[in-house]
Amino acid sequence: MELLKPIRKKDPDQQGFATRTIHAGQPHDPYTGSVVPNIVLSSTFAQKSPGIPYAQKSPGAPHGFEYSRTNNPTRATYELCCASLENGEYAVAFASGMAAISGALHLLKHGDNVLCIADAYGGTLRYINTICVPSYGITATYGDFATENVMELLATSPKTTKMVWLESPSNPLLKVLDIAAIAAAVRETFDGECLLVVDNTFMSPYFQRPLELGADLVVESATKFLNGHSDVVGGIVAGRDRALEQRLRHTQNALGAVPSPFDCYLVLRGMKTLPLRMERSASNAMQLALFLESHTSVERVIYPGLPSHPQHELSKRQMLHGGFGSIVCFFCVGGLIGAKILLERFQLWTLAESLGAVESLVESPAVMTHSSIPKEKREELGIFDNLIRLSCGIEDASDLIFDMNQALEGLDGM
Ligand SMILES: *Cc1c(COP(=O)(O)O)cnc(C)c1O
Repeated sequence: MELLKPIRKKDPDQQGFATRTIHAGQPHDPYTGSVVPNIVLSSTFAQKSPGIPYAQKSPGAPHGFEYSRTNNPTRATYELCCASLENGEYAVAFASGMAAISGALHLLKHGDNVLCIADAYGGTLRYINTICVPSYGITATYGDFATENVMELLATSPKTTKMVWLESPSNPLLKVLDIAAIAAAVRETFDGECLLVVDNTFMSPYFQRPLELGADLVVESATKFLNGHSDVVGGIVAGRDRALEQRLRHTQNALGAVPSPFDCYLVLRGMKTLPLRMERSASNAMQLALFLESHTSVERVIYPGLPSHPQHELSKRQMLHGGFGSIVCFFCVGGLIGAKILLERFQLWTLAESLGAVESLVESPAVMTHSSIPKEKREELGIFDNLIRLSCGIEDASDLIFDMNQALEGLDGM
């Protein structure tokens, strides 16, 4: 027995991404040995003495548990796992991606300006333009960080700019931004007084980690890849600065848009297969992109993994694990009529909004996700009626290609 070497345990921070999707924040239950985190439904928690919680202090509950809007054991476990995957110090969970986005925007005060990408997620634009601006006295300016000179865009922004809001790749045109370069430019222009927030929903922390690229906060709609099974609506905000965490926790508790313990459990479960799902769906996306690029019923394909994508080299540098995500866009022939005929012909692809789940989805941004943007403005952005957005799932690529091929067949001869 003396020959046995002392047991060694890898520092959890040094473990690989896939290991952490399964284990981060999720030790076995000390009482039962349960391997799966408990779903703790209790809305309130017994106290030993007034103001002294019963539960032991833990990294997920530095003050113990009192009331589930403020903190809940299942949610704390979920938040610890998300924090680890984003390579952050903390993650704050919300009841939807939009609740997470509004939680982050609530860091702004009356009179502050947010500089946002012009083609941000529609819900983000709606929250800024119809609530933050008229009700909270926040101002908003917009820019295209992919084509405008970023230094000039920042330098000509109002001095009151306290937040820059990015998505990369953008939705639906998949423009890729140099997050590290923008982070450095924001720090330089605003002397560290302006937060860079990146909505990372399209990539998930498996393919892109904005905090490592210099962003102050990362936002994810957990509804999409994190959960990945089209059965939860949720969102998180993650970061590294503990003072910011305190402000986000205050907002989480004050707004009260928190996820249920069951939803936290479902996303924790979904995240265990995040690397496998991302690898498979991105591989399917690459195969679809190549197939579409060679099809005579297709005018143009947009996918960061294709050498024809204007930011292909940047994507190779910035995206992790050699992947380019699971979203592919293309313009079909035949305009709006062609798109409509195509979308009605799919048998395996589901015609639906949303993205990031195990089943493959197809949609028309002009008629569905982006229909609230006036046609003229849509076309200015490049969202024409024949644009089709795919969210590749994890089915067999051959079946997805078969269905795509049969749906496209003859469209070019119409
Ligand atoms: C879906 C989505 C959101 C909003 O998330 P919900 O969970 O639907 O509230 C925000 N940003 C992006 C990029 C999204 O795709």
